[in-house]
Amino acid sequence: MSFIQQHILEIIYLIGSVTFVLGLKMLSKPNTARRGNLIAAFGMTIAVVGTILFHKQDGEPIGNLAWIFGGIAVGTIIGTLMAKRVKMTAMPQMVSFFNGMGGACAALISMVEFDHYLALHGGASLMNGEILTMLAGLLIGSVSFSGSMIAYGKLEGKINDFIFPMQHIVNLLVFAATVGVGVWIMVAGVEASWPIYVMFAIALFYGVLFVMPIGGADMPVVISLLNSFTGIAAAFGGFLYNNPVMLTGGILVGSAGTILTILMCNAMNRSLTNVLIGAFSAKGGAGGGDTGDKTYREATATDVAIMCSYAQQVVIVPGYGLAVAQAQHTVHELEKVLTDKGVEVKYAVHPVAGRMPGHMNVLLAEADVPYDKLYEMEEINPSFPQTDVVLVIGANDVVNPAAENDPNSPIYGMPILKVTEAKQTIVLKRSMRVGYAGIDNELFYMPKTQMFFGDAKDSLQKLLEEVKAV
Ligand code: NDP
Repeated sequence: MSFIQQHILEIIYLIGSVTFVLGLKMLSKPNTARRGNLIAAFGMTIAVVGTILFHKQDGEPIGNLAWIFGGIAVGTIIGTLMAKRVKMTAMPQMVSFFNGMGGACAALISMVEFDHYLALHGGASLMNGEILTMLAGLLIGSVSFSGSMIAYGKLEGKINDFIFPMQHIVNLLVFAATVGVGVWIMVAGVEASWPIYVMFAIALFYGVLFVMPIGGADMPVVISLLNSFTGIAAAFGGFLYNNPVMLTGGILVGSAGTILTILMCNAMNRSLTNVLIGAFSAKGGAGGGDTGDKTYREATATDVAIMCSYAQQVVIVPGYGLAVAQAQHTVHELEKVLTDKGVEVKYAVHPVAGRMPGHMNVLLAEADVPYDKLYEMEEINPSFPQTDVVLVIGANDVVNPAAENDPNSPIYGMPILKVTEAKQTIVLKRSMRVGYAGIDNELFYMPKTQMFFGDAKDSLQKLLEEVKAV
């Protein structure tokens, strides 16, 4: 019987692993993402249930069922409530919070297993792969947990950046101390558990120091990095338990998080080091607005409505401001009204528009914008010369020509949406203030550009009414 159960469990783990791979693949396209998420969640559910029912520890079935199901019930309730209540703009902090929980699990597993190991073998020989795996899982999981919690607090506006002199050196020393305790545990062969708790405490402190100085708007990159840490820590757990599904899940999260971190840095044309220590040369996001003696033209809702209504092709460029204003439903309304008038309307989605990967896709999907109207940067760029009107809505850096023309610009080299090639560009924002990169945008002063000032949602509402009236 136990032999059959073992085989059933292996088949369940295989199915679980396959669903993770499939789910991840499907998450890369907006129209399959929802299904991909469900498929991976199904895989995780059968893996958890299969383990509880069929796993044997030293020939015995899993005990503590009341604690396990109690934990599942509490987690399900809290997770469901959080997911239902979260606003789209608050997604990064929720991802960070959940990620932190994963890191905490990995760290706790290491501590429990260390105790278990000591009880079985004593401390004479700790120089082995099993202990190394535990310590690595503990270190990475703890950093991921405390770092993610700080990231959560910062994005919620509850924790401020904290910078002090020689911070890099202090951070390095604390990291070295954490690794040092780990090496000591292995080499000295301790017989009590307390050294691993010391290592846990220092690693937690390092996680706090690691994230503290990073600027608010750099948080998505850090969250993605911490996410990859959690994956790696979970993979160590998979090694420890010889559990293939945990290993596959951990490796997938670890590698996907790492790739995403690299892609985000590339799309922003910044190195990871620059993101991680960028706050020491604090950069803007809120200031600006000084246009010097440069002039710009302003448009009214009526002007823009006429331009759009008589255009053949209108391209909408959504940006961070659209998300802040929660204008996704209004922009979809506008797109429908224009389409009914015979205008071809497309959305141009820049990979780092907004403040998290896929931000614009998620936002527009929430408003039921058809996926076939969403164009990625490489697809849409060649069609700007045939575009009559571009509506840049709450976007700034992703359309800044300095990325192509000004080698001294901090965003030089970042691929952009080439809206300057269109016949007319209308920029909807509240003022001449800068975006995330903290730099002025020449686009606003170009002869083919007009500024339409106001909150994105209010401006789009006015525009919608005018377009209906034309
Ligand atoms: P930007 O941050 O460049 O610009 C957003 C603009 O929106 C601002 O200039 C602001 O101008 C305007 N805005 C703000 N609130 C409103 C509102 N209520 N109504 C209308 N406009 C508003 O955004 P982009 O999307 O163009 O670029 C994203 C930036 O974020 C890039 O620099 C990218 O590198 C960075 N980033 C992106 C990440 C990602 O994963 N997507 C991760 C980390 C960073 P005003 O104040 O005048 O209204």
